[in-house]
Amino acid sequence: MKRSQIEELQAIFGERDVLTEVEDMVVYSYDASHAEIRPEVVVFATTTLQVSQLMKFAYREKIPVTPRGQGSGLSGGSVPLENGIVLCMDKMKKILDFDPANRLITVEAGLTTSDIDPVAGEANLFYPPDPGSVTFSTIGGNVAENAGGLRGLKYGVTKDYVKMMRVVLPQGDIVTLGNKCVKHVAGFNMEGIFVGSEGLLGIMTEVTLALLPIPEHRESALAIFNSLDGAAQAVSDIIAAGVTPSTMEFMDNPTINAIQNFKDCGLPRDAAAVLLIETDGEKNSCISEMAKVEIEVKKNDILEFSRAESSEERDRLFEGRRVALNALASVRPNLILEDATVMRSKLPDMVRGITAIAEKYDLQVGIFGHAGDGNLHPTFLLDMQDKEELARTEKGVAELFQLAIDLEGTISGEHGIGLEKKPFLKDQIGGEGIRLLQNIKKTFDPLNLLNPGKMFDMPTDQSA
Ligand SMILES: Cc1cc2nc3c(=O)[nH]c(=O)nc-3n(C[C@H](O)[C@H](O)[C@H](O)COP(=O)(O)OP(=O)(O)OC[C@H]3O[C@@H](n4cnc5c(N)ncnc54)[C@H](O)[C@@H]3O)c2cc1C
Repeated sequence: MKRSQIEELQAIFGERDVLTEVEDMVVYSYDASHAEIRPEVVVFATTTLQVSQLMKFAYREKIPVTPRGQGSGLSGGSVPLENGIVLCMDKMKKILDFDPANRLITVEAGLTTSDIDPVAGEANLFYPPDPGSVTFSTIGGNVAENAGGLRGLKYGVTKDYVKMMRVVLPQGDIVTLGNKCVKHVAGFNMEGIFVGSEGLLGIMTEVTLALLPIPEHRESALAIFNSLDGAAQAVSDIIAAGVTPSTMEFMDNPTINAIQNFKDCGLPRDAAAVLLIETDGEKNSCISEMAKVEIEVKKNDILEFSRAESSEERDRLFEGRRVALNALASVRPNLILEDATVMRSKLPDMVRGITAIAEKYDLQVGIFGHAGDGNLHPTFLLDMQDKEELARTEKGVAELFQLAIDLEGTISGEHGIGLEKKPFLKDQIGGEGIRLLQNIKKTFDPLNLLNPGKMFDMPTDQSA
């Protein structure tokens, strides 16, 4: 980038908030996936106006911009594919308005997700979406990926809580989309288009989110199974019995042992699989729901069903689930974590299919995830320096996506497409689906300068 262009960026952001040193570029060249491409410049926004000025500059100079929250994404979304500028949003972390009467909170997009609850909790409210990354991901990143979480089964995902947002469009215009009312149908559902847009259509700078009352009571239990099939079938049976637990997390034997080696969370090393189950709500209904859960799991090849007797015991079990990814990451030099998702009733087929793929290609796989909403995380453990193992793993991953599609599921339940799943999106939504996405992108970003090269390619005549 030219000296004069750097100086213009320094005039917008201040010298301290513009980085150009090689060491800094390395730090912002990757997220939690595998892609690694260095930007030319990294800037840190503190106001919406700066973001707008940046995009006007980028459009004039035809320089690509990649928005970045905390870089915890698992699909390469914030990796700057075409060099250019990385725009960091994590200094925009103010809580702008807390409105308990309307159960709303308005925050800057760089706020860490878990920073909402201490404020909301003062009025006995909470923000339900809780990705495993809740303590470090940003709200902007959550909205851009439509992040899910451990409570998705009962409470839904990020899209269910986004009411309104302030967005800087690719050419620098600032717009407010959505509304704070419970009902709002004036125009298209524009805020909805931005949920899951992976930073391709605009940059969210402020978001208004809905909150819910904190449930009165929680019951937590650990169901230990002799077989993977038993655990998967139990999930289907619990839902079919009319119970909606707030959490139903699945962990298989390799994951359990990786967790126990990483940190003792009291999980049974010899179990084929466990389900971590929680019901919440009014105390009596919560207890009776857990009683129904117990009946259903006991029909399914169970070794033991134990309830957490104290909040310490519960926290220990949940800690195990939260460190699952880090624990698996410590087993082999690399891992490929997927989030192919199926309907809950197809979970047993999915688990059987993953096991068959692992056997076919002789792969080391740990499976954990949000089983209650059919969203498993088959995690392929490998050494990427071993090209033969990498090639086998890539075949296994491709087959996993096809399996999800064949089971009427999706190649991504919550991590998005980004770079990692881009080659597979057409298999999911077809050529017409890709063309529709391209046309929407072109309407917002005619020069293809905002996060280019992610999710799908633009036809070459439309590129910058
Ligand atoms: C240990 C671990 C556990 C995880 N658990 C979960 C989980 O349970 N559920 C889940 O859904 N995900 C999970 N993730 C993935 C990840 O944390 C989420 O995708 C999260 O939403 C990313 O937030 P971020 O702030 O890190 O965004 P980044 O990774 O920085 O960016 C993600 C995407 O959002 C875009 N973006 C970021 N900010 C903005 C903005 N303000 N405006 C427009 N676009 C923007 C970026 O360009 C990029 O495309 C996990 C990741 C890790 C490492």
